Amino acid sequence: MTALEIVRIPVLSDNYVWLVHDPESQATMVVDPAVADPVLEAAAARGWTITDIWNTHWHPDHTGGNAAIKDATGCTITGPAAEHARIPTLDVQVTGSDTVHLGNHVAHVWDVPAHTAGHIAYHFADDAAIFVGDTMFAMGCGRLFEGTAEQMFTNMQKLATLDDATRVYCAHEYTLSNARFAVTVDPDNDALAARLVAVEAARAAGEATVPTTIGAERATNPFLRAPDAAELGRIRALKDAA
Ligand code: ZN
Ligand code: FE
Repeated sequence: MTALEIVRIPVLSDNYVWLVHDPESQATMVVDPAVADPVLEAAAARGWTITDIWNTHWHPDHTGGNAAIKDATGCTITGPAAEHARIPTLDVQVTGSDTVHLGNHVAHVWDVPAHTAGHIAYHFADDAAIFVGDTMFAMGCGRLFEGTAEQMFTNMQKLATLDDATRVYCAHEYTLSNARFAVTVDPDNDALAARLVAVEAARAAGEATVPTTIGAERATNPFLRAPDAAELGRIRALKDAA
């Protein structure tokens, strides 16, 4: 099995759309296309044709490009069964413990409710990669729009079971804001302090800071490191107010 090629496409103010290509089968998948044109252009520039869209949740900045990409390519759109009413373009509805395929690569669907009630993630175990939408960010987690701190704590604990090397593909460049907040709730964490310095330099140079890894998050993400749901909820509320 050849390695997946994964391309980051920055769109809107801070969204990342992920273009995922399997060279063996030529299958090409898009995670959470906020918009269509930059995604179609990124695929065309590489000679790839989009065969699939996988959505993590219904928010418009994750599904806004669905219809136009499907019109242009005839691709199949897969997404959370629990949100099918809010994603009218879905062809295939999936839920936790289902598997989805990109060529010979298999992704396991995880239920990760909290940011939205039906939010899912896609884990390519053999590729050590997980697409988490708005569930985890570098040094952050998604806002609790439709769920609870208990649910997000459960999600973080499940992510913490993955190997340190697992790459985490999140959907926004929130890293600098998250780092500046994280140091206020975990001021004695040397790894976090060092990461803030590195992120400031990267952003000043115009560089993207994701994907991140489970290892980096285990060392520096206050939401992943929270010992219980109450603490996660407490710091989530602080970040919301920051
Ligand atoms: Zn969202
Ligand atoms: Fe989003």
